[in-house]
Order: sequence, then structure tokens, then C-alpha cells
Amino acid sequence: MSDCLFCKILDGEIPADIVFESDTAIAFRDINPQASTHVLIIPRKHIATLNDIEADDEGIVGSLYSAARVIAAAEGIADEGYRAVMNCNAAAGQTVFHIHLHLLGGRALSWPPG
Ligand code: AMP
Ligand code: ZN
Repeated sequence: MSDCLFCKILDGEIPADIVFESDTAIAFRDINPQASTHVLIIPRKHIATLNDIEADDEGIVGSLYSAARVIAAAEGIADEGYRAVMNCNAAAGQTVFHIHLHLLGGRALSWPPG
């Protein structure tokens, strides 16, 4: 998608602090971090929202969680705990319409989120 911010990061048109890459996903640090670890994990395939995930995408979406596990271990937050969440559409605060898992950790996270 030519007008998608995260596709531009995938294409190298916009710089990002990339911390993980696989065949199906990449991850980079959030530009406005909400915790000491705040990484966004995105599929290489452009999928706009969680509502647009298709049955064939299950492997790709699963790979986002596998990436979260690897990154949490690398960040040293796996044992203390962390959160991996995906916002969908306006009421949840989604602002970039290329799905992304927020990996947040390094501080106590309240529940429920606001
Ligand atoms: P969401 O509100 O769930 O769509 O999350 C979008 C996230 O993308 C926000 O946490 C932003 O801070 C983050 N973000 C926006 N632009 C960039 C960028 N150029 N590089 C890294 N993160 C970004
Ligand atoms: Zn995209």
C-alpha cells in the first residue's frame, strides 16, 4: 500500500529502529514509547485491521506472537511480564491501518486499559 506508513517502513522509505526481522514480520521501537520497552510487531503483508485478517493469514498472525516471545526475551522482560495488544479501529484508538502488535513492558501495566 503506497500510502501506508508501516509499508513505507517495510520498504525502507521511512527509517525505524528495527529490533527483529523474519520472513513474515518485522518489529521496531514505537516512536512515542509508553513503557521502557514499546515495540511494534507488524506483518510484511499489508492487512488494515484485525477485522481484515483472513483464514489464510493465521500463520502470519501467529508469527507476530512468536516474534513477541523472542523480543520479550531479548528485552529481558519475559519473566517479569509484558503485554501484547492489537487495537482495532477508532474506539480502540487505532491510528495506523496496518495491523501491529504493541509489545509493552518494563513497568507495571494497569488493567483494564483506559
Ligand atoms: P495504534 O494507535 O494502535 O494504531 O498505534 C500506532 C502506533 O504507531 C503509535 O503508538 C505511534 O506512536 C506509532 N508510530 C507512529 N508513527 C511511527 C513511526 N514513524 N515509527 C514508529 N512508531 C510510530
Ligand atoms: Zn501497510
